[in-house]
Amino acid sequence: MTVSLNETHDPARRSFVATANAPDADFPIQNLPFGVFRPAAGLPPRVGVAIGDQILDIAAASSSFAGLAAAAGRACPLPHLNALMALGPPAWSALRLALSRALSAGHGEESLRRHLTPMAQAEIEMPVAVRNFTDFYASIFHATNAGRAFRPDNPLLPNYKYVPVAYHCRASSIRLSGTPVRRPRGQRKRADEAAPSYGPSRNLDFELELGFYVGVPSALGETVPIGKAAEHIFGFCLLNDWSARDVQGWEYQPLGPFLGKNFATTVSPWVVTAEALAPFRTAAFTRAASDPAPLPHLDDAEDRVRGGLDLTLEAYLVSAAMRRDGIAPRRLARTSSTSLYWTVAQMVAHHASNGCNLEIGDLIGSGTISGPERSSWGSLLELTARGREPISLPSGEQRGFIEDGDEIIFRGLAEKPGYPRVGFGECRAVILPAE
Ligand code: CA
Repeated sequence: MTVSLNETHDPARRSFVATANAPDADFPIQNLPFGVFRPAAGLPPRVGVAIGDQILDIAAASSSFAGLAAAAGRACPLPHLNALMALGPPAWSALRLALSRALSAGHGEESLRRHLTPMAQAEIEMPVAVRNFTDFYASIFHATNAGRAFRPDNPLLPNYKYVPVAYHCRASSIRLSGTPVRRPRGQRKRADEAAPSYGPSRNLDFELELGFYVGVPSALGETVPIGKAAEHIFGFCLLNDWSARDVQGWEYQPLGPFLGKNFATTVSPWVVTAEALAPFRTAAFTRAASDPAPLPHLDDAEDRVRGGLDLTLEAYLVSAAMRRDGIAPRRLARTSSTSLYWTVAQMVAHHASNGCNLEIGDLIGSGTISGPERSSWGSLLELTARGREPISLPSGEQRGFIEDGDEIIFRGLAEKPGYPRVGFGECRAVILPAE
């Protein structure tokens, strides 16, 4: 990762938006994530930046910006981030710098306040027009746990430590956080049943993932060198790869996931830029001494040292009964992206290693992020041993898998001593009964 630290990362910088300076704020001035919003119902959607509990209308606020930042501002009166992404990393960086200066305490307050909308009043929309969606399987702990559920004797297949395993999934069913998800129907067959039946999934699950958006495309037929791969990523989000385990378990051989996965994917609204996460870069996963080295096209000295990301992701569940009784969501998992076996750069380089072209707005998922501890497992498949060991809820209910009316909530944040917390906000959706 070549993004270096600059004044936008200065931990001492504060905003004239007071809520951005609270210690537990997700959106301090060091974050500046991009999204799409309508300031009020009926107004056209446009690109904004989150600051504290406010959203700044970038196109309106950037009239005083110069150079690349001004050009970036002109790409913002649009209902998606794709045009801003197309301007490339120098423009993203120039816009971030101009926004950081404009929103800092003692600057542009009077002229900018009128371009702020309280987040609670705004209508938030999908940030990116996504044409392609790929989901990796980059947590070795998840791959081992999930493999054990489907293949008890042979959990981790021999390709895992060579190939960043992934599958192509469906862009058409990606929805923004807050949009309800309908329980899918499908073919499911229990081990004790002789033949499958078609009906509502009985084993609906979530997958706690990090998503990232391609901002720099690659041409068909060309590869992306591992040392340049991270520069193709514009930013990051929380991603829930909803999974119907019973449908998945019946259909997945030999071609992999299909209808057990593609009925819905939920993403968080704010895209936290790669530049905002530069302070949270860390070493790549430490491979066991007995593991093979990555093949040369997936190996890079700087990526080994700085290619990892130290982010904390959490999953919560609140049932309909808990909501009714005012009971707080129950945390199911708290995990770290440091447990990903493959780095973002390795996933991107692998994706293009056959000449498959990356497009602006492509969404890539990390795969379920699970760590070594049970409390860090990022799906119910793992947490409840495929439903056999249900989780108790504070309402007295139990859950092996997700029930109708349950809401799954993800939160994500980056923290380190002496640095303001950079948060992702939330990624949430409630499950509706099958049609
Ligand atoms: Ca997944």
